[in-house]
Amino acid sequence: MSAASTIHLEPQAAVRGRVAIRNVEIVFGSGKHRTQALAPVTIDLEPGTFTALIGPSGCGKSTLMNAIAGFVFPSQGRISIDGIDVKGPDPEVGVIFQQYALFPWFTALGNVKFALKRLGLDREEFERRAHEALAEVGLAGQEMKYPGQLSGGMKQRVAIARTFSGAPKVMLMDEPFGALDAQTRISMHSLLMRIWQAHRATVLFITHDVDEALVLADRVHVMSRAPGRIIKTFDIAHQRPRSAADFDMEQMRMRGEIHRLLRPPEE
Ligand code: ADP
Repeated sequence: MSAASTIHLEPQAAVRGRVAIRNVEIVFGSGKHRTQALAPVTIDLEPGTFTALIGPSGCGKSTLMNAIAGFVFPSQGRISIDGIDVKGPDPEVGVIFQQYALFPWFTALGNVKFALKRLGLDREEFERRAHEALAEVGLAGQEMKYPGQLSGGMKQRVAIARTFSGAPKVMLMDEPFGALDAQTRISMHSLLMRIWQAHRATVLFITHDVDEALVLADRVHVMSRAPGRIIKTFDIAHQRPRSAADFDMEQMRMRGEIHRLLRPPEE
């Protein structure tokens, strides 16, 4: 590659996946059925960074994520990705939910191929990328299994392979490991960190789990009880890989403070 093309490409890569959430408020229904799901929220997700959103159940985390994904629309405020207002679902914005959302009638490989279709690759590249994506998440040899034949952790590996293989600029993850046991969760954390560092999408990760947020994220936003607003933001500069078993004093302090912020008020 020539020096000129490198210079041309780098600034473009650097701005890919910037999410700007400006004064976004979301209200469902009206009259006595009115629910304010989200109080006005203003945050930026910087390109290629990993942001965790933590808050009590029902505070509006999924609603905010659904608005970034283009599934619901703000009642007030704006959401843009790379300067373009979100007007509906965008194939460059990947979404992973707690429930695996794989197509049960496709094999693991079929699920990944489905996501790769939109890239319009030639046949050889298409096959190679699909196999590589599954190998990257440790599922080489399992390509022909159907979701019903895979464990919860393996299904989420397929979901991660499927979503990242489509080269998303933004990845939205709504408690993706919430249904997994503690050991599987820890191995999914290192897997996710490895894949994210290789692909560098901008990630928004919703969780209830303080340690999970502190292990994974560059930045953690803590939300209030419903209707949610951001009450505190923590920047985490600690080197990766991180482990909750080896938290230092600063991480322990942040863990304590986040738990206190999330604690329900005394009755
Ligand atoms: P969280 O993800 O933090 O648990 P949600 O975003 O799922 O919270 O929900 C926030 C609030 O918005 C809840 O009171 C929920 O019942 C309400 N809500 C979410 N989606 C809808 C909808 N489509 N219609 C009406 N109310 C909704």
